[in-house]
Amino acid sequence: MTTTTPVHYDTLIIGGGQAGVPLAYALAGAGQRVALAERKHLGGSCVNFGCTPTKAAIASADLARRSTRAAEFGLVGAALRPDLAAVLARAQRIADASRLSLEEGLGADGGPEWLRAHARLGGRDGELFRVQLTPQDGAPFSVTAKSVVLNTGTRTALPPIDGLNSVEFIHSGNWLRRPKLPGHLLIVGGGYIGLEMSQFYRRMGAEVTVVHGAAEVLDREDPEVSAALRTILEAEGVRFALGHHAASVERSGPGLRLHLDGGEVLEGTHLFLATGRLANTDDLGLETVDLQPGKGGVLTVDERLATPVAGLWAAGDIRGGPMFTHTAWDDYRILESQLIGDGSRTTERIVPYAVFTEPNLARVGLSEPEARASGTAIKVARFEMKQDGKAREIGAAQGFIKLVSDAHSGHLLGATLLCESGAELIHSYIDVMNAQAPVSVIQNAVHIHPTLSEAVQSAVSTLA
Ligand SMILES: Cc1cc2nc3c(=O)[nH]c(=O)nc-3n(C[C@H](O)[C@H](O)[C@H](O)COP(=O)(O)OP(=O)(O)OC[C@H]3O[C@@H](n4cnc5c(N)ncnc54)[C@H](O)[C@@H]3O)c2cc1C
Repeated sequence: MTTTTPVHYDTLIIGGGQAGVPLAYALAGAGQRVALAERKHLGGSCVNFGCTPTKAAIASADLARRSTRAAEFGLVGAALRPDLAAVLARAQRIADASRLSLEEGLGADGGPEWLRAHARLGGRDGELFRVQLTPQDGAPFSVTAKSVVLNTGTRTALPPIDGLNSVEFIHSGNWLRRPKLPGHLLIVGGGYIGLEMSQFYRRMGAEVTVVHGAAEVLDREDPEVSAALRTILEAEGVRFALGHHAASVERSGPGLRLHLDGGEVLEGTHLFLATGRLANTDDLGLETVDLQPGKGGVLTVDERLATPVAGLWAAGDIRGGPMFTHTAWDDYRILESQLIGDGSRTTERIVPYAVFTEPNLARVGLSEPEARASGTAIKVARFEMKQDGKAREIGAAQGFIKLVSDAHSGHLLGATLLCESGAELIHSYIDVMNAQAPVSVIQNAVHIHPTLSEAVQSAVSTLA
């Protein structure tokens, strides 16, 4: 019998998501021997089925919606007809191009190595981690590493709905491979994925009903804002069944029947599950290093992203806290700082996010209810987008901007933008918050006319 000594790496990164890929390059660039174990596609959820293709598809839906308003803009002719299969094909092409650009550089001399395999911790040899790799094709093998970074992301969490295994369902992982337009799509989950998808499929031409357990969609947001967004979606024809959970589902002819816990029965043709994400930590061999994941499979980390096991780090969605691409990507900068830098960068950061419905809902810092609950003396502003000239000119005057500032220091505590391009406009507020500058900086600046950015400034002027 022959035994081969396992290849040794300074750092092994498990999962080629938003933190793993740039971190692999950074560590290799600093002279480390680095391997990136990715069992499927580089880029992870964001590139392959999340942010990239959803936003590409939403762009098609927005265009389709605009075309229905052509007469309002003085244009004559029939509205464009959406073709879901073509829309998804475009989104897939854009995702593929992003993934391929990530793959291009891996494996070059001196760069990180890509181990195309499922990786699992296999205990320790003294200070070194043993990691077992199982390629899709080919024999399993082991490697050792001084440090291991886990960046394994999440998958769709399946809700406890009786009969789920007897019906087909769509979810964030397979929606791109479902080109047939649903007649009536039942979406379970009124969080950000559920809402983005509700508007997308509605604009593609489907009937859509969203079932959400809480009394309002986006139930962690300012209720006034969530209700305003729901009302906008309702005006487009999206229906909502709020305050009830989906209890069971059954096939009914070519469609299905969804029974809610209050007794109501919804008839639909397709089911989309958008009820949260589950961390991919259950098949990582964590027990071999005495690490137990918490609720939802997330790992406990400190502000450096270190797990309680020395040398084992976690990045991205699995480390608990905000689950966004920009935070996963920022985790790479934290780990770069911790592993090869001066250690000064940590999870002390201001985290913005957006729901990419039209209009966008963009958020940073505290909402009004959160600021009030904190007991701080605050000022609140609400600026209606219909007061902004550019918003009226481009026919996008729905929504508002809400700001909360510290009444004493004049610093911005939070901003909520429910408006056209809100996810772009919010960056002025993010920047003053990061600069720890008073919000009057925006008020005193000169903004270009006519722009939506004038609304960003006008909102500050109405802080009272
Ligand atoms: C539909 C949808 C839309 C979204 N839209 C947005 C958005 O607009 N903006 C935003 O900021 N965020 C969005 N997100 C969230 C965003 O995609 C995630 O927060 C981000 O991708 C997290 O990155 P990550 O690095 O933690 O993991 P991921 O990107 O999920 O990558 C994890 C990788 O690890 C691999 N892997 C897992 N286990 C193993 C193993 N044992 N061995 C080897 N490889 C393994 C997986 O194959 C995967 O490639 C969206 C998510 C979804 C589902």
